[in-house]
Amino acid sequence: MAKQIPGRMCIGCRTVRPKNELLRVIRTPEGQITFDRTGKQNGRGAYICEDEGCLGKAFKQKALKSALKCEIPEEVYNELKSMLLPEEKS
Ligand SMILES: [Zn+2]
Repeated sequence: MAKQIPGRMCIGCRTVRPKNELLRVIRTPEGQITFDRTGKQNGRGAYICEDEGCLGKAFKQKALKSALKCEIPEEVYNELKSMLLPEEKS
């Protein structure tokens, strides 16, 4: 059998995808909500597709809140959204 990459479920669309195709969103011990692009930061984490739609769903359906076990203020959501879509360099 072929080696399997561990799958993780996106908290937005609930699709299971290989871990390396998902973004890890974490709550740091300091209480900051951020993306962990190294996958090595400490904190309670959840996985999500690098997709604004999934982030929106996760926020609206409170999946992000329950995954991270804390309230997600709208500013934090907006901040995550802006981290997701880096501005195109012109
Ligand atoms: Zn997704």
